[in-house]
Parts: sequence; structure tokens; C-alpha cells
Amino acid sequence: MQIPKLAITIPCFNEELCVDSTVRRLLEVLDMLIGKGKITSDSFIYLVDDGSADKTWEIISNLHKEFPQRVKALKFIRNYGNQKALIAGLTGVRNIGCDCVVSIDADLQQDELAIEKFVDEFVRGYDIVLGVRNDRKTDSIFKKTTAIMFYKLMNLLGAKIPVNHSDYRLVSKKALDMMAMYPEKALFLRGFFFELGLKTTMVNFDVKPRFAGCSKFNVKSLMGLALNGITSFSIVPLRIIAGLGFLMAIFAFLIGLETVFEKVAFNNSPNGTATMIILLCFFGGLQIFCLGVIGEYIGQVYREVKARPRYIAEIELN
Ligand code: UDP
Ligand code: MG
Repeated sequence: MQIPKLAITIPCFNEELCVDSTVRRLLEVLDMLIGKGKITSDSFIYLVDDGSADKTWEIISNLHKEFPQRVKALKFIRNYGNQKALIAGLTGVRNIGCDCVVSIDADLQQDELAIEKFVDEFVRGYDIVLGVRNDRKTDSIFKKTTAIMFYKLMNLLGAKIPVNHSDYRLVSKKALDMMAMYPEKALFLRGFFFELGLKTTMVNFDVKPRFAGCSKFNVKSLMGLALNGITSFSIVPLRIIAGLGFLMAIFAFLIGLETVFEKVAFNNSPNGTATMIILLCFFGGLQIFCLGVIGEYIGQVYREVKARPRYIAEIELN
């Protein structure tokens, strides 16, 4: 196989404290790999500014001026969220042209030296190389537990997402071409690439604490990501609801039979106001919850049907 041309894409949202040193560090990594003859010398970095309100874009533009061939970038008109920024990065590098692309966070929490292992696996013939974190030492207890619950739930629901794989991965040009065939807007990349059916492998890496700034995810955006992950990947919740409804109907039918039987056999009308109220509240609550779940899916359909663009870009530097 020829030496691959590597692209590195980085979503950035209000990363003025990180982006400059991150890009310089990744350029060093590229130089190191070029020096070892593992990637071509026109390998490059592609940043996506996800509507930052701080100096991120200014810093990115300066980096582009300093390294016009090696640092390219795209600026969103507003914040669309990390998944959209990643998709834009993958689409952007595909348009520019590369053999494989690694996505990594702007805070360099993921060990950048693993990129070398990613490339080695790619050269060995893997189309998808997933970075899997060794542990979650740097996460808060809340994030740790919710993340574990999410991965467990997703796997239970039938979407096989590798545990502890974040969006640090290498994908081949072939995978990018396949992605371009998926018009759906709410692509959940973590599951998506795993399910393509291409040759996939994993590489372990260490997680470091964020070196500057704070996490750009809050509880709301994490919930959104998780819900999107579930509803864009699995219809098992809808089936569970249908099953529950059916069981409830059978239950009601049996209670009805029993009541009629008591009346006929013993002339006995059971008195159970408390039971009634409890059952009413329980099933009422369950129904509203189920409606909510169905609502999530209808929302997903609604968003897809509107077919709005995934994002709108303002400027591209390339
Ligand atoms: N990010 C983004 N848009 C957002 C939120 C985050 O592009 O709306 C980027 C962010 O700049 C970073 C990556 O996504 O490069 C991961 O975010 P962060 O490090 O804040 O997440 P955490 O490591 O806490 O999960
Ligand atoms: Mg981070």
C-alpha cells in the first residue's frame, strides 16, 4: 500500500485557550509521522469552528495564515453541536481529498500519540480504527455513571456501540464515501461507523485532564446526544411500549373477568377505591411516559422530514 495522506479534523467550540497549542502539537505529530515515512507530507489539519463566541476563529485564521497548506478550517454560522461539527469536518476533508482522517477533540484530552497506532492499523487494512479509552479517571462521578448507563442501555437496545469509545477514531476514505450516501441528518457517528460493516479494530489510549478551559458539554447537551443516539439507532423502545400496552390490556381483561365472576358467583362487588386510584395514577403515568418516548421518535421523523441542512458554513479556509 502507498503511504496514506492523513487528515486530522477537530471540532472547536469556544476553545480560544486550547486551539493554538493543540494545532501546534498536532503539527508536531504530523511532522513526526512524515519523518517516519508513515504519512505523506501534504497531510493536514482541518478545524471546524462550531459557532464560537470567543476568539477561536481569530486564532484559527492566524494559524491558517502561518501554515496555509497544513491548517485548513471551516466556520459555522452558529453553534450546531459537536456531532454536526464532526460531520462537517469529515465532509470537508473528503472534499479536499485524503486517504484517512482522524477526529480528535480540541482540548487534546485524548492521547495524540495514539494517532500513530491508528495509522499503523489503517495501513494494515482496517477502514475504521476506534479509539477506546483506558479508564475514566478524569471524568466526574456523574459523567462516569451516566456514560456507563448510556453504553449499557444502547447495547441492550441493540445498537452495538463500543464501550468507552468517544469520537476519537480514524476512518478511511471508503468509510467517508459511504457516509456521504447517508442523507439522514441525525447521524450518531459513534454507532454509525461501527455498524457500516467495514473492517474495524480498536486501539486503547489514555485520557488526560483538559489542559485549559472547561467542558463544552452540559447536562442538557449530553442528554440530547444520548436521546439522539437512542432514537436514531433503535426502535426497541417503541416495541417495548407496544409490549407493555398489550400486557396491560391482558391484565385489565383478567381483572374484569375476576370482577364479573365474583359478582355472579358470590354477589360480591369488590370495593377498592385506593387500588383504583393507585392503578389509575400508575397507568396514567406510564401512558404519558410512553407517549413521550413516541414523541421523541416523531420529533426525529419531523426533523428528518424537514430536511434542513445539517449546518450552514460561513467561511472555509483551504
Ligand atoms: N464541541 C463542539 N460543539 C459543541 C460542544 C463541543 O464542537 O457544541 C467540541 C469541543 O470544542 C471539543 C469537543 O467537541 O473539541 C469535545 O468537547 P469537550 O472536550 O468539551 O467534551 P468532554 O471532553 O467534556 O466530553
Ligand atoms: Mg474534552
